[in-house]
Amino acid sequence: MERVISGFKSIILGEVSFNVAIFLLVGLLLSISFFPPMPEGSWLWEEREEAPLSKPYKAWVLRTGSTLLPQQPVEAIGEETVKSNMAPLKIMYHKVRPGETLWSIAHKYGVDFYTVVDANKDLKSINNLKVGQIIKVPNHSGIFYKVKKGDTINSIANKYRVDVEDLLAVNNIKSGSELKVGEVIFLPGATSSVVKRLLLSNYIGNGFIWPLKGRIASGFGWRINPISRRREFHEGIDIAAPWGTRVVAARSGRVIFAGWYGGFGKTVKILHSGGWMTLYGHLSRIYVRAGWYVKRGRVIGKVGNSGYSTGPHLHFGLYKYGRAVNPFRYLR
Ligand SMILES: [Zn+2]
Repeated sequence: MERVISGFKSIILGEVSFNVAIFLLVGLLLSISFFPPMPEGSWLWEEREEAPLSKPYKAWVLRTGSTLLPQQPVEAIGEETVKSNMAPLKIMYHKVRPGETLWSIAHKYGVDFYTVVDANKDLKSINNLKVGQIIKVPNHSGIFYKVKKGDTINSIANKYRVDVEDLLAVNNIKSGSELKVGEVIFLPGATSSVVKRLLLSNYIGNGFIWPLKGRIASGFGWRINPISRRREFHEGIDIAAPWGTRVVAARSGRVIFAGWYGGFGKTVKILHSGGWMTLYGHLSRIYVRAGWYVKRGRVIGKVGNSGYSTGPHLHFGLYKYGRAVNPFRYLR
């Protein structure tokens, strides 16, 4: 064996290049384990207010242009079907006590937060519970699902990655029976992407809210500049609103610029976690200073017509790592 390897070394590669090859191979393997392939169909943000991203993750985000979470691949060594021992669905009614939140209630009953949000979709606000209010809590984590035309137990189980046996047991469905369209069943262990998106955008703090209400005067992308009549790429959206309308921070962050900014006139720029930045142009008044930390929804200025502008409006720009992105895709 030794002879074979040394023969291989001297004949094909030579001593030095063999070592180099090993070095490169180890480097390649390390980089693969460090930057696992992008997960499919997942869109979960990994962003926390004020928490700086770890260096490798930031590098990964920059390299792939993705904000998806790197996930470890699942390594199954086999599988077997076991009869489910999950208890049938039961819904508890919980009366809110002082100081309780949906998080604490979910925790108390041993289900995940998404479950409680999903079971109480009719709630107006999930942030401010009223004492005495009734909250529904299922005895398993999961979501409710309304059966659609063409659905089968297997297709639903596949789509939501739910164990068929669990699904049958929890819903008291006999194996082989058919689902009725419109029937509501519970999918144990499933998480609704709609619920997740709602939570992430509106409640956990990663969403951008509209900086003001108004008419969209100009969208994002190529257009003819209303003043110069030249074709240009409009790196934001123009929201027309009466002079003096209050403009709020679309998301919490640090003010990195407040002042006159060329054609944008009186402008505020806010840096947010995750490499995001928002820009508010053509203001008439500015109420913040560079260096200030502002909360989402805080008034930062008023609509004006400063800089190159044809009438009172807000130019709102959204940037990810310095690259302009379409705000319509992110505003809630
Ligand atoms: Zn504009």
